Amino acid sequence: MLSSNVFLLVVQATLYFTVMMSLLRARKAIGIGVFMCALGVMHFLETYLASVFYIQLPFGIISPGSTVMFSGKLLMILLLYIREDAAVVRQPIYGLLIGNFLIVGLVMILRNHDTVSVVPGHVPDIGFVDEMGWLMVWGTILLFLDSVGIIVLYERIGQLFGRHLGWRFLFCGAVMLTFDQAGFYLALRVISGAPFEVFVGGWGAKMFATVIYTGFFIAYLKFFDDEKGWRTNRSFRDVFQVLTFRERYQDLLETTSLDHLTGAFHRRRYDAFGPDILKGCLEAGEPLSMLIFDIDHFKGINDRLGHQTGDEVLKAVGKLLKENVRQDDSLYRVGGEEFVMLACSLTPAAAMRLAERIRRQIEIFSEETLPERVTVSIGVATAPDDARQLDELFSIADQRLYQAKRQGRNQVSGPLPASEPNSSN
Ligand code: GH3
Ligand code: MG
Ligand code: MG
Repeated sequence: MLSSNVFLLVVQATLYFTVMMSLLRARKAIGIGVFMCALGVMHFLETYLASVFYIQLPFGIISPGSTVMFSGKLLMILLLYIREDAAVVRQPIYGLLIGNFLIVGLVMILRNHDTVSVVPGHVPDIGFVDEMGWLMVWGTILLFLDSVGIIVLYERIGQLFGRHLGWRFLFCGAVMLTFDQAGFYLALRVISGAPFEVFVGGWGAKMFATVIYTGFFIAYLKFFDDEKGWRTNRSFRDVFQVLTFRERYQDLLETTSLDHLTGAFHRRRYDAFGPDILKGCLEAGEPLSMLIFDIDHFKGINDRLGHQTGDEVLKAVGKLLKENVRQDDSLYRVGGEEFVMLACSLTPAAAMRLAERIRRQIEIFSEETLPERVTVSIGVATAPDDARQLDELFSIADQRLYQAKRQGRNQVSGPLPASEPNSSN
């Protein structure tokens, strides 16, 4: 009986991990929403099971709801974070928080109905809600704290574990699930006076689940994926800011028009003055060339070398670009690692030459001074030949930028063939 209970738990964990990991792996093809919905829909069952469905194991009495599903979910949230980033993982974290409170709110209203029986012998009953009651509310708050906690902890201890992803994963799971078990037990104790064995049993089971899931994760990395793509080195402060939506606040604070990191103008300035620059230039009978720069595989640079090094790379690229703008030209940082240069009187041919020169400069400069070779792709468009409006011009230059990306990156795409053949890549 006992061993069959353990066996069933392992089967559940295997099923859970296989399905969820397949969805995570296929997210580029089928969309991340599939993974997120599957993750979210489990919460109700977990909480229900955790409040009433218990089984006997050698080390105590446990609930499969908290052991397999809850532990699994928390670790899945961590895996989603590692694979994507804080801005993606905060979506299910907040979705779960709000959705669970919505359930509680709706049920509070639902229970006041006078119901009728439509299937003979079936009495409608939402008494199960009473069985979950405040545990659902408390469990939801705990899950939120656990999710933010496990991610911040994962980054905080990155250096301690270095390349040992498995140990790092195991450590974070063990610490946060211990915290969770303590928090959950506290509520059980207050509400129903649960004995201490419930804490010990549940804790043992969660640790067991963490070990099993870590084993699965290591096996997954070994047989199905490349571990390199899973190595991150992000600043835990940045991550915490994104998780708590505080980067929005930072955005609002940015009122000056110079971007302090790169020395380029802010996008706001581009939006405000760009159209006038174009107009003035055309009225003077001169062409205006637009160059859009996007660093190649920049996300990988952040992930491999850390956000701080990513910032250094951005700074260096910004500096090189600034050195190439003439007195009357202007440079804007329009996206994280995207820049736009506006140059009046620059013909298409001259713009192509300038773009090619900058492309090579960045490549050579990075090989000499940066920790990794960094390249950029560049899209070029010129008014009035390509367009007479700024947003149309941008859209054409942007399409060309993506053409450069598609053709292998580290190259220029514009109204004319690139002036020199691509030396590498
Ligand atoms: P691609 O070659 O297709 O451009 O690949 P990519 O990885 O560069 O893709 P994308 O342009 O979408 O990625 C931009 C990344 O830039 C995502 C974000 O993590 C990073 N990023 C944006 N702003 C900053 C910043 O201020 N500092 C750092 N370090 N990274 C940033
Ligand atoms: Mg980009
Ligand atoms: Mg890029």
